[in-house]
Amino acid sequence: MLRIALDVPLRRLYDYLPPDGVAVAGLRPGVRVEVPFGPRTLIGVLVEVAAGSSLPTSRLRAARAVLDVEPALDPVTFDLVRWAADYYHHPPGEALAAALPILLRTGRSLLARETYWQWRADAATAATGTRLGARQKAVAIRLDAGPLSASALAELGDGARAAMKGFAQKGWVESCEVEPDAAPPPRGDAAPGPVLTGAQAEAVAAIGAGLGTFAPFLLHGVTGSGKTEVYLRSIAEVLKRGEQALVLVPEIALTPQAVSRFAARFPVPLAVLHSGLTDSERLDMWRLARSGAAPIVIGTRSAVFVPLARPGIIVVDEEHDASYKQQEGFRYSARDLAVLRGQRHGIPVVLGSATPSLETLQQADVGRYRRLRLPERAGAAVTPRTAIVDLRLHEERQGIATPSVLAMQRHLAAGGQVLLYLNRRGYAPLLFCPTCSWAAPCSACDARMTVHMKRSRLICHHCGMQEPVPYACPQCGAELRPVGQGTERVEDALDEFFPGVPVVRIDRDTIQSRGEIEAALERVHSGEARILVGTQMLTKGHDFPDVTLVVVLNADQGLFGSDFRASERLAQSIVQVAGRAGRASRPGEVLVQTACPEHPLLTRLLREGYDGYASAALEERAAAGWPPFSRLALLRAEAASREAALGFLEAARARAAGPAGDSVRLLGPVAAAMERRAGRFRAQLLLESASRAALHRLLGSWLPELDLLPEARGVRWSIDVDPLETS
Ligand code: ADP
Ligand code: ZN
Ligand code: ZN
Repeated sequence: MLRIALDVPLRRLYDYLPPDGVAVAGLRPGVRVEVPFGPRTLIGVLVEVAAGSSLPTSRLRAARAVLDVEPALDPVTFDLVRWAADYYHHPPGEALAAALPILLRTGRSLLARETYWQWRADAATAATGTRLGARQKAVAIRLDAGPLSASALAELGDGARAAMKGFAQKGWVESCEVEPDAAPPPRGDAAPGPVLTGAQAEAVAAIGAGLGTFAPFLLHGVTGSGKTEVYLRSIAEVLKRGEQALVLVPEIALTPQAVSRFAARFPVPLAVLHSGLTDSERLDMWRLARSGAAPIVIGTRSAVFVPLARPGIIVVDEEHDASYKQQEGFRYSARDLAVLRGQRHGIPVVLGSATPSLETLQQADVGRYRRLRLPERAGAAVTPRTAIVDLRLHEERQGIATPSVLAMQRHLAAGGQVLLYLNRRGYAPLLFCPTCSWAAPCSACDARMTVHMKRSRLICHHCGMQEPVPYACPQCGAELRPVGQGTERVEDALDEFFPGVPVVRIDRDTIQSRGEIEAALERVHSGEARILVGTQMLTKGHDFPDVTLVVVLNADQGLFGSDFRASERLAQSIVQVAGRAGRASRPGEVLVQTACPEHPLLTRLLREGYDGYASAALEERAAAGWPPFSRLALLRAEAASREAALGFLEAARARAAGPAGDSVRLLGPVAAAMERRAGRFRAQLLLESASRAALHRLLGSWLPELDLLPEARGVRWSIDVDPLETS
C-alpha cells in the first residue's frame, strides 16, 4: 500500500494500492506517482510503503503509474521538506510540491534526455573520401572523437546543425537518445582573486577546516569587508574536492552583479534559480544541480530545496534579509532550513551579513555558530563618517534639509556620486485637504492612498487599488495638497535643486525587470548618473564604488513601528545603505536626517555601530522574553466582518487554553495593526513559549481541530511559525 503526498491543502497523506503489475518492494520514497483523485488525475510523491491502511482494501483505489525509478529529491532534501512541513504545520503535499519544479508536477521526465550523433559503421571513411566544407569538416572532426551531443553541436555555431543534417541525409550518421549520467563536473581552475586580508584568510582557513563536517559559521563582516571574496575562496576549495556549493541570495533579479562575480571567477556551469525563469529554464537549472553537472548553484529562497548530487557547502548571503522567510502559504525560513540541511549533509554552512539578525547573533553568542569577523573594509576603502541632521533645527525643502543639500553640492563638485535613501515610493504618502482635513482613504483598507503624480493615480500600497487623482476635495471642494515625500517627489525636487545633474531613481515603480535594473546600474557605473534616489532596493548588496555621500532622508519611519522587530529592520537598513558609501578609495560620508536625534536606538547605532545596537537590542529582547529568547507562532484570521475573525480566534483560544498549560502563553486575539485590508477584516492570536517542544506539541494537536470549529465558517486562517511580522 502506497502512502502518497498530494498537492492539496489538507494536512494528511493518501493511501493507494500500487498500480497493476508493479511490485512495491522496489519503490523508493520520493518517486512520483500518478493517481486518480475524485474525477481528476494528480501527480503525488510517494512518502512510504505501508503494510496496511486505516481504510479497508476494497475502498482503496489503485495508483495509475509510477513515474520515476530514482526519487526526484535526494533522501536528505526529501526528509528536509517533510520535516519542514511538520515544523511549519503545512500540508505535506503542498510542501513537496513547492520543492519541485512545476514541470515535474505535470509529469515531465526527471532526467534530461539528450540526442547524440555518431558515425555509422564505415561512414567515417566515406566522409574522409569526400570534399567537405569548413563547417562540415569541423563537425566531422568532433564526430571522429566520439558521439556528439545536440548541445555540443549547438555550441559549434550556426552552420553546424545544417552540416549534421546533411550527414544524416547521406546516411553517414545515426542519432540516439541518451540519459547523460551525472558526469563529474569540469574542474577548471578558478581565476585568481586579490590577496586576502588577514581576517579574510583566517575566515577561509576556518571554513576550509570545516569541509566534510557540519560546521555552522556566522561570517560577520562590515559592508565592503570582502565577504563575497571569502565565499569565493571557500567555494574554490569545495570545487577542488569535486563537491558542489549552494549559494542562497535574497534577490537575483536585482543583483546581477552577484552572479557575474561567480561566473567571472569559476569556469564552470552555474545553475541559477530565481523567479524570473520560464518553467523549462527552471527545470533545466534544477537538473543541472541534481545531476551535479553544475558545481555551483545560486538561487533565492526556494533553492534551499534543490537536490544536489555532491553537496559540499551552503552559503546564505545577507542572512538577515526578510525575503528568506516565505510570507504566505508554506511559511518556511530558507535560512533556518539551510542550517538544518547542512547538518544533515554534514557540510559547513556560512551565514554572511554586515547586520546579522538577532537570532543568528544569539546562536553565535551561545557558541552554536562559530563567529568569523571581518572588522575592516577590504582594499583601500575606509569606513564612512556618519552624522545626524536634526530636522528640528534645519529647514527642509521637499524632504531634503539644508545641511544635506550643502553636503550634496560638496560631493558632486568633488566628482563623487550621491545616494539618497527613502523607503517610500510614489510622490507623497497623503493627499490632504487643508480646509476640512479630508485625506484620500483607500476604500478597501484602513490606509491612505499614495499619490503617484507621473501616472496621475492614487494607489493603495496595501491592496493595489487605483483611482484617478481628484481635482478638488470631494468633501468641501477646496484644493488638495500632497503631503510628505516619496522617491518620485524627491526626484522632482532634485531637478529644482540641482538642475541638469543626471538622476537615476531605483524603486519598484521605475524598475520592473532585470533589463531595467541592469540599465539603471549601468548609468551608475558609467558615471553618467550623479545622484541615485531609491528605496530598500538600493540597499541590497550593490557595489557603487564612486558613491561618496549617502543621505538617509527619513530615519524616523522605522523608529516607532508597532512590530517588535521594527527597530532591528531600521538599524539594518541604515547600516546597509550607509555601507554603499566610500566603497573605493574615496572616503565616504553618511548623513541621517531625523527629528528624534536623541532616540536611544539611533544614538547607540551611530556611536557604537550595529554591534552596539544589537547587544542592547538583545538585552531588551531577553528582558521582555521575545525571540530569540522565546518561540512564537501566529494564528492569523481574516473574514468579512471583525466579529467573525475575532470570534474564530476566541474559540480557537478557548480550545488551546487547557492544553497550553503554563508553558505556552496565548496573547490576544487582537485586531491586526491594519485591521481592514482589501475589504477583509484581519485579527490574530499570538502563541509564545520558552519551549519549542511545548509550542509544537500544542500546535500539533490544536490546529487539526480548528477547521472543525463552527466559528471557522467563512474565516480564512493560517499559522505562521517563527513569524517575522507580528503586527
Ligand atoms: P562584502 O560582500 O563584504 O560587501 P565584497 O566582497 O563585495 O564585500 O568586497 C568589497 C570590495 O572589495 C569589492 O570590490 C571586492 O572586489 C574588494 N575586495 C574584496 N577583498 C579584497 C582584498 N582582499 N583585496 C582587495 N580588494 C578586495
Ligand atoms: Zn476639504
Ligand atoms: Zn487598499
